[in-house]
Amino acid sequence: MARLWVRGAMIVAVLAALGAVWFYQQITDLEVTEVGPFVHAIHGLGSNVGVLRTDAGAVVVDTMTFRTQGAQIRELAEELGGGPVQAIINTHYHLDHTHGNPAFPSGIRVVATERTRAYLDAVDADYWSGAAAGTLPNETFANQHEITIADKTLRLVHPGRGHTDGDLVVLFVEDRVLHTGDLFFNGRYPNIDLEAGGSVREWVATIDRVLELDFDRVIPGHGPVTDREGLRQFQTFMRQLANAGDEALRKGWSLEQTRTEATLDADEGYEVMAIPFVMRLDRDFVLKRAWEEVSGNFERISLPEGMK
Ligand SMILES: [Zn+2]
Repeated sequence: MARLWVRGAMIVAVLAALGAVWFYQQITDLEVTEVGPFVHAIHGLGSNVGVLRTDAGAVVVDTMTFRTQGAQIRELAEELGGGPVQAIINTHYHLDHTHGNPAFPSGIRVVATERTRAYLDAVDADYWSGAAAGTLPNETFANQHEITIADKTLRLVHPGRGHTDGDLVVLFVEDRVLHTGDLFFNGRYPNIDLEAGGSVREWVATIDRVLELDFDRVIPGHGPVTDREGLRQFQTFMRQLANAGDEALRKGWSLEQTRTEATLDADEGYEVMAIPFVMRLDRDFVLKRAWEEVSGNFERISLPEGMK
């Protein structure tokens, strides 16, 4: 009996070790795509990372989910971006876009919106305590910001509410490439963070403002690199979703009715993104968020006075 138990424990230990190896492989498996002569995208478990090459070194947009990934991103960025990383830009506060930051030198230039910084302080303070605090956003703005690094210009714009109410998009001006952060999920159902001011209803107008910028290629927050047409396709889906929410409000639908009555078809072929036990981004999820927004069924994260 005791021997059987020992054998059982050994099997469990082996499985746990295999699971850990599998998990480690998942998070360290990064893939690079060339977006233009001076721009690359890095794909992995978490958000898409953008790397811009300048005469002075690299600029990195978002840093994925784990510190280990941040270290790999840093190495890849130095190689692809022509030298040491000059600045990090965080498109919004979610951990799959920011938690790689601490792999970069403390005190490095980190740019984000004021609201992104406020959300990090409000909901993620544990992670950002101690040494990690040295890679929190230290250059913030409300609506527009421009950065020049050597031969390159970066235009940062907070185009409005959508995924959260603090997202920014980054235009690599000379290269006509835009990194949208999570204001654009390409070919996937989006996360809508109502708690942090996200809005299905305002998302469509926000994309209109994004489309006013001068770009050809687009690095979305999640999904493959695409172009303006890809972004317009996603906008069509968000318009349908917003209409579903408005109809639910008008007709007084319950959540269940919203799920069965809503008509969506622009999501044909959309991928479902699932993090076991955490979240599942599928049609049910986005309809639930659309319904919760119009029925006021959610609670906003409270930010300090003056950040309302
Ligand atoms: Zn996000």
